[in-house]
Amino acid sequence: LNGYVGFDTITQQIQRKFLKRGFNFNIMLVGQTGLGKSTMVNTIFSAHLIDSKGRKSATETPRQTVEITPVSHLVEENNVKMRLTIIDTPGYGDQVNNDRCWEPIIKYITDQHQAYLQRETSPTRERFIPDTRVHCCLFFISPSGHSLKPLDIEVLRHLTQVANVVPVIAKADSLTPEERNAFKRRIKDELNYHKINVYPYHSEEDDESDRSLLHSIKDLTPFSVVGSEATFTVNGQTVRGRRHRWGIINVEDETHCDFVYLRNFLTRTHLSDLLETTAHIHYETYRASAMRQPLP
Ligand code: GDP
Ligand code: MG
Repeated sequence: LNGYVGFDTITQQIQRKFLKRGFNFNIMLVGQTGLGKSTMVNTIFSAHLIDSKGRKSATETPRQTVEITPVSHLVEENNVKMRLTIIDTPGYGDQVNNDRCWEPIIKYITDQHQAYLQRETSPTRERFIPDTRVHCCLFFISPSGHSLKPLDIEVLRHLTQVANVVPVIAKADSLTPEERNAFKRRIKDELNYHKINVYPYHSEEDDESDRSLLHSIKDLTPFSVVGSEATFTVNGQTVRGRRHRWGIINVEDETHCDFVYLRNFLTRTHLSDLLETTAHIHYETYRASAMRQPLP
């Protein structure tokens, strides 16, 4: 007799309900045309997106305005159902004059918060409000090896106020490992200098192990990634990769790029935290400020 009553099983109980209902995960892609955004999500979720509609063509032409195009997929792994929505933002940063080109993006994000708030405060609110809030914004940085562009800084400044932003160095195969590390360092310094707070965040509630996890992630980010939808056979093994003159880059090899770290981060270690942080920090910030406004 040790007094155990078993309320610790609530973790399984909550999980069971959550899993039965399924959950939404909404990822937004931001970055100039050609940086490999579409390829990257297809590399991360590969097999699950096979039936994806509206696939890009290789000759995608720059658009005049930013078009926000969400595409949803119902995906399932071991009885866990996830409604994955990829929100592409083609046209971003493609113009000669990119003044305020981030506005449609910020508007899309706050519109989802507004829609959620409306349903939540409705007298006849549903039990489960459909969650279209952007949980993660993957921000693609051009592999220039120099620094962030003024536009990147401006947009990051706005985006980080309203959503979890995860910056990635796109097409990292165009940089040598030394160049990548120097570029990472530089980007980190610039983010610090401009006080741009990218995801994940420090929290007062963090314990020792949270802090050390956060530290190791901060060390690794921005992830330098390589995407590919092609497979090759290397030593009898099928690998997803890109062929270069000097050989094949295996995107899933941690010594070649940070792709596996990014995928694990999004799907295995931080998925639940991305959902929670969106609800408890970004949505809450929106809600508090919206409710302070006088009624129209
Ligand atoms: P998006 O416009 O940002 O969606 O870019 P896409 O995913 O359509 O990719 C544009 C082009 O870049 C395609 O020809 C891809 O094959 C290529 N590409 C995508 N990812 C990478 C990468 O990591 N490295 C290299 N070298 N090329 C890539
Ligand atoms: Mg695309």
